[in-house]
Amino acid sequence: MLPIEVQRAPTLKPKPSSEGLGFGKYFTDHMFRMDYSPERGWHQARILPHGPLGLDPGAAVLHYAQAVFDGSKVFRGKDGQLRAFRIDDHCKRLHSSAERLAMAPVPPELAREAIEALVKVEADWVPNAPGTALYVRPTVIASEAFLGVRPADKYIFFVILSPVGSYFSGGAEPVRIWVEQQATRAAKGGLGGAKAAANYAAGLQASMEAKKRGYAQVLWLDAAEHRYIEEVGTMNLFVRIGDEVITPPLEGTFLPGITRESALQLMRDWGMKVSERKLAVDEMREAHKKGELREVFGTGTAAVISPVGALGFREGQLVIGDGKVGEVSQRLYDTLTGIQYGTQPDRHGWMTVIK
Ligand SMILES: *Cc1c(COP(=O)(O)O)cnc(C)c1O
Repeated sequence: MLPIEVQRAPTLKPKPSSEGLGFGKYFTDHMFRMDYSPERGWHQARILPHGPLGLDPGAAVLHYAQAVFDGSKVFRGKDGQLRAFRIDDHCKRLHSSAERLAMAPVPPELAREAIEALVKVEADWVPNAPGTALYVRPTVIASEAFLGVRPADKYIFFVILSPVGSYFSGGAEPVRIWVEQQATRAAKGGLGGAKAAANYAAGLQASMEAKKRGYAQVLWLDAAEHRYIEEVGTMNLFVRIGDEVITPPLEGTFLPGITRESALQLMRDWGMKVSERKLAVDEMREAHKKGELREVFGTGTAAVISPVGALGFREGQLVIGDGKVGEVSQRLYDTLTGIQYGTQPDRHGWMTVIK
């Protein structure tokens, strides 16, 4: 067990009402922090009031983007219990993301203990309205003040918490997505397989352009040929053609999403035909012509399942299915959220009760 010093905030913030939570607008009263140096390793684990970190302007993260994070959720069940979804998998992914950026990785058990301890302190912040959760954002940054280019030797690991509503303010309304044929987010051999802050910066300009065109997000194609689908916004992507559900294989250009893996598992449990294979935009167009492009949806912690109603191209747009939420999308959403809120059986041991 990690010794964690707890320094309580002298005054607590009022809790926001569950209607206007949005995503990531509010932070809880406390955060977790731990520091790394080569001599001491990870040390000084503490829970303290949420507030500034006190970084030197020469800190390597501000110059060379050594920053990785993860994102998971804790749910308040109908029975009042708090449950974290696949917390160990999220902590392992934070570890591998940090390794990819040559950062000091946080041992997954330490990250998990930190998150659980913080969530216990902030238990009152876990909202209970349907669709709401406490979002957990563990982050590692390079804090060494040094401008030479090499991996930093000092790091900060912190965890902040945010009560969240449903990610898309419009509810489960399918979104329109712009198929981006110029900009790319991550290429083979790059950082796409890590949850690195830099990947997000790479995607902002194209997503802003898509919004100006009236689309909610961008569908990213492969960086080499602009032919194969990869991700939608910052979610993994699934396409249902006829009775086959297809998602691109993990080749290091996008994140191995934990919601992606959970959705694959559930669909396999249901005996559906699921394929992890390359899917070209042309194949989607062909399927659309034949009336077989039935569903497109994104998967990710924030939205769980995000149905796509239409894909936009310079030449026009493809309406998916009947433009409404598809049957597989709906079933996945209901099952995953059912498991998360403790109303459906947790057959794969994904949930951890926090008490
Ligand atoms: C976080 C993230 C996802 C979704 O991963 P989950 O583990 O399902 O939340 C997908 N793509 C990118 C680029 C991400 O950063």
